[in-house]
Amino acid sequence: MPTATARKPASANGTANGHGVKPISGKATPSKLQAQKMVYYFGQTRCDGDGSPEMKKLLGGKGANLADMTSIGLPVPPGFTITTETCAAYYRAGQRLPVGLMNEVHRCMNMLEKETKKQFNSTASPLLVSVRSGAAVSMPGMMDTILNLGLNDATVEALAKSTGNRRFAYDAYRRLVNMFGDVVMGVDHAHFEHEFERIKTKYKAASDTDVPEAGIVELCEAYKEVFRKKVGEVFPQNPFKQLELAIEAVFKSWNGDRAQAYRRLANITGLTGTAVNIQAMVFGNMGDDSGTGVAFTRNPSTGENKFYGEFLVNAQGEDVVAGIRTPQSCDEMTKWDKDAYQQLLKIKTKLEKHYKEMQDIEFTIERGRLYMLQTRTGKRTGFAAVKIACDMVKEKLITEKQAVLRIPAGDLIQLLLPSFDNTAKKIARVLARGLPASPGAAVGKPAFTAAEAVKRAQAGEKVILVRKETSPEDVEGMHSAAGILTSTGGMTSHAAVVARGWGKCCVAGAGALDIDPAKGHFTVQTDTGRRQFTRDDVISIDGSTGEVMQGAVATAEPKLSGDFATVMRWADKYRTLALRTNADTPADAKRGREFGAAGIGLCRTEHMFFEGDRIKSMRKMILAETREEREKYLEELLPYQRDDFMGILSAMRGLPVTIRLIDPPLHEFLPHEPKQQEELAKAMGVPVDRIRRRVAQLHEANPMLGHRGCRLCVTYPEILEMQVRAIVEATIDCHANNIKAMPEIMHPLVGTRKELEYLRALTLETIAKVRQEKNWQKRVDIPIGTMIEVPRAAVTADEIAQAADFFSFGTNDLTQMTFGYSRDDINTFLPDYLHRELLEGDPFQSIDRGGVGQLVRMGTEKGRGTKPDLKVGVCGEHGGDPKSVHFFHTVGLDYVSCSPFRVPIARLAAAQAALMVEGQ
Ligand code: PEP
Ligand code: MG
Repeated sequence: MPTATARKPASANGTANGHGVKPISGKATPSKLQAQKMVYYFGQTRCDGDGSPEMKKLLGGKGANLADMTSIGLPVPPGFTITTETCAAYYRAGQRLPVGLMNEVHRCMNMLEKETKKQFNSTASPLLVSVRSGAAVSMPGMMDTILNLGLNDATVEALAKSTGNRRFAYDAYRRLVNMFGDVVMGVDHAHFEHEFERIKTKYKAASDTDVPEAGIVELCEAYKEVFRKKVGEVFPQNPFKQLELAIEAVFKSWNGDRAQAYRRLANITGLTGTAVNIQAMVFGNMGDDSGTGVAFTRNPSTGENKFYGEFLVNAQGEDVVAGIRTPQSCDEMTKWDKDAYQQLLKIKTKLEKHYKEMQDIEFTIERGRLYMLQTRTGKRTGFAAVKIACDMVKEKLITEKQAVLRIPAGDLIQLLLPSFDNTAKKIARVLARGLPASPGAAVGKPAFTAAEAVKRAQAGEKVILVRKETSPEDVEGMHSAAGILTSTGGMTSHAAVVARGWGKCCVAGAGALDIDPAKGHFTVQTDTGRRQFTRDDVISIDGSTGEVMQGAVATAEPKLSGDFATVMRWADKYRTLALRTNADTPADAKRGREFGAAGIGLCRTEHMFFEGDRIKSMRKMILAETREEREKYLEELLPYQRDDFMGILSAMRGLPVTIRLIDPPLHEFLPHEPKQQEELAKAMGVPVDRIRRRVAQLHEANPMLGHRGCRLCVTYPEILEMQVRAIVEATIDCHANNIKAMPEIMHPLVGTRKELEYLRALTLETIAKVRQEKNWQKRVDIPIGTMIEVPRAAVTADEIAQAADFFSFGTNDLTQMTFGYSRDDINTFLPDYLHRELLEGDPFQSIDRGGVGQLVRMGTEKGRGTKPDLKVGVCGEHGGDPKSVHFFHTVGLDYVSCSPFRVPIARLAAAQAALMVEGQ
């Protein structure tokens, strides 16, 4: 923003081009744009532009749609648009208006004068215009607008006369002086505000609208005086000078701090500048027969096909947006101006027929006459997106394929999980923000340990498990809690992965929270100082946005409509990528299947070792010092595992179930706190020293790169034997009970062919042994495959495929190891990387196409080079991310697997990918 002293208007005494303004050709730079059209007119006389994508680029969204609405016969005040290319030329020339621009502007002003039968700078019938920005991508409120341009000391009187409303005319003038001073000359708005307060006190007016005519006239003078003092010159009386300076100010606002920050945050790149729309003013504040409003052609929250909006009688657009007065619902309009309302309904139909999309519009009624000021595609919730797409297919406005492509896949999550009530959220107090790790809405009181969460939840309390970070030991507490909140950890931290798998709300990495489990509280800085939250304070967490809020924010339950099923049916028709779910329990397996999964792509077996008494046997096994001892405790675990597998295989009714053998380092199963170690020693009847010694022995500097994954089964083959035995016994039992079971055994973290060959042989041996022991005569076909999650495995996939029946990319670990970023600690530096644009996004959320993605592509191609029919899938978190799903489709994978709640999202994303590739 230019400062008042640094930036002064040029003298307004020029006389060229018949309008009393000197063209600025002296300082302009020749440009190749000279030959190009810089200004596009829209009106009854002529309409140069349209709503095509090329025009949107050139005229901005607003300009293109104004031209479009004009050409389909809607009542749009006429005007013209200066192209985005002209803005780019302005910057290329070192911030100088291109040669010839103002001449083109003058020609268009002439046309506008003829069409409106008013004249700029006329003391009989003055023409006033608005000057607004409008880029190719909507950037609401980020750039500048100036209204009522063309008013000066003479034309204001003419306006007063022609409208018969002097207060209105001077109110328009003082708004211009204020906006022009603020936006164009950089005068601080507070100076104007100060004068307004003074006048209000003088006239004993409670609000702006109570100030009488005399007060407004006086205010106008005061504003001009503020302008003169701060700018050092009088308010420009030449309307063309006003126009020229306003155009330049809009160009400048393209590179203002606000606009730059918005583009960075919204990831808007590749645009060259803003267009400038100059349009004849219409007034919604000309009296009680005038008004202004904003509306959607359908309800943007529910999708209901009903005109939905708000309006204000006797007001300008900015009054609606600024919230100074409370607007009325458009339904009320019938009582006020039935004709205008009927006309709006007709416009709604016309717009939707034309754009084949729900529109967000702005309109003004000037003395009973309706004008359209803007239309654009309306933003909507996931619910509305589904309903609108289905309704529009029924109404034959769009095709099924268009409907599938139109629904943002990620927004489907809103339909599947409870969410916070929008109105309640607006007034909620946000305490901190973390990562939106697992969507949903949870309300409860903090519990600071897993055990506490279990106990209090069992007693009927709703708790939020608040931890610095979670570990597999916490699973029961996590399960009992209504939601999970951590102060460290990223999107694929343990808490996040587990929570997403269960569809449980989780906010991870809310770094502003200082958690003290020993004292049973967390503290956080609020706008009223540092505050402490104990077990008695209710908090609400929004897993869809990452917000942590004070108190109980009201929630709304999900309602799965028939439209949702319709969209899923369409998606299945067009997708080629198969869908599986990640599930560790029969309940998750069932949910995943109900959501449309055609199998389980990842069953993580280690979670099964934490429940109830199993953890005791698991710990005894880990503490055992000989193979015999270990086998004894593994035998205790065997029935549990077998039952688990029976449950899951039965729940999937003949669909494939990929069971991954143990993955985490063993130390994760042992307690680390001295008190817990003592308790364990007592329960096991062993000296506490033995436990401490084993914990110390298992300690690793980099456990994620240490003794984990298939490396555990190389060292302890008896673990593999127990797990494979459990799988085979469960399969045989299922078959014996006429339940079709299709397990697949998957080895994690494989990096070399020999490693997999060794484990494969051991697996096959165990399968044969159990079959023999059980005297099972029929075949037991269990494919044996591997995860590809170590870069070496991807690079040597041709060799590894020799020992594998299938591949499943573990993109969580593959991302971790390719970037060398710890998946649990990325949040410590990710914000800096995003802020500096060193990374496009969190690579654990959306696949890094250029690096990790290339390993997926290479691994797939090399694997299939060895075995053309090799089945290849993905089971990392990326399997549920729409952008990544699109990439996996193009790589030609067979399936993606994701947590149950993301299955519908991935189904839709897979269909969109197929349709987009088809349309290319
Ligand atoms: C992976 O690494 O992508 C994976 C699915 O395994 P986990 O998340 O259990 O390490
Ligand atoms: Mg992994």
